[in-house]
Amino acid sequence: MIEFRQVTKRYDSDHTALRQVNFALDRGELAFLTGHSGAGKSTLLKLLMVMERPSAGEVVVGGQKLNSLPRRQIPYIRRHIGVVFQNHQLLFDRTVFDNVAMPLEVTGASPSDIGRRVRAALDKVGLLSKEKMNPMQLSGGEQQRVGIARAVVNKPPLLLADEPTGNLDPELSADIMNLFGQFSQVGVTVLIATHDIALVNEMNCRTLTLDHGRLVAGGSPLMGV
Ligand code: ADP
Ligand code: ADP
Repeated sequence: MIEFRQVTKRYDSDHTALRQVNFALDRGELAFLTGHSGAGKSTLLKLLMVMERPSAGEVVVGGQKLNSLPRRQIPYIRRHIGVVFQNHQLLFDRTVFDNVAMPLEVTGASPSDIGRRVRAALDKVGLLSKEKMNPMQLSGGEQQRVGIARAVVNKPPLLLADEPTGNLDPELSADIMNLFGQFSQVGVTVLIATHDIALVNEMNCRTLTLDHGRLVAGGSPLMGV
């Protein structure tokens, strides 16, 4: 589902964020991405979202090489990638339902399709009963789950999360991680950037570790080409 082949990302001569990174994640695989601050975690996620392009090497998502992707195809690729942020980026001027519906509205889905899919996503995160509420009325853990529902409402094959439990206590963090685990079990590839080492240890999943831009653990050696 994801493949990095000898990927280097240099922002300028002083800032090399990733150095010859190699790894692959299969469909339905869940992995953590860890490393100290500045190790290159956000850069790796940005390459997957085509917010940045590699300086060398190749990034492949779902069989598509992102390096040579024409600019006009970027929005289409992003529709296949769900993204969960630490501060969830919910809009407080609309309901939970409308927040989750946002990624569908740009796809031209019909209102009945939108209703069905938004409710399916809210059901998966256990918030079906709160669709009419304003996200401001929800707890931090619930807000994060609305963010997850929004990220998966398009049924993306790839789910990326950047410090998704940054503001949550350990118990709620475990809930959120279990939710990611459920998505991976139905075939979604999940990559979670975090420096919450306690949580990573508890989950006992594959962990990609970056150190000053080098992948020092968890990468799979590329076979053949
Ligand atoms: P992390 O997410 O692990 O904290 P980042 O990917 O944000 O790491 O950063 C990796 C390195 O790249 C750091 O040295 C950072 O200063 C540098 N960097 C990140 N973004 C930029 C940018 N837009 N321009 C220049 N350097 C950057
Ligand atoms: P919108 O940008 O209005 O969310 P998109 O169709 O571009 O609509 O987004 C579809 C999916 O892509 C959503 O799951 C959303 O979380 C995710 N997404 C939105 N913006 C970005 C982005 N800049 N990079 C990567 N993924 C994104």
